[in-house]
Amino acid sequence: MADKDRKVDRNVPGRWYVDANCIACGLCVEVAPENLELDWDAGFAFLKSQPREEKQEAAMRDAASQCPVEAIGSDG
Ligand code: SF4
Repeated sequence: MADKDRKVDRNVPGRWYVDANCIACGLCVEVAPENLELDWDAGFAFLKSQPREEKQEAAMRDAASQCPVEAIGSDG
């Protein structure tokens, strides 16, 4: 389960976030490219924008459920 007290600092403010457990596997960015981006240099993904429509919300739920280290949360 993602930890809202360990968010990566590049997340935009809002409910969804990536936490410091991220291993930069890149999977979530493929699943939800409109809201997630990978910072290769820093070694983590982050929320570049919060979902604004149901299609994006659904993509974020898919990304969170597929993250291998459960680093994506929606309780922020
Ligand atoms: S799927 Fe999880 S571990 Fe992989 S880049 Fe996204 S947040 Fe990081």
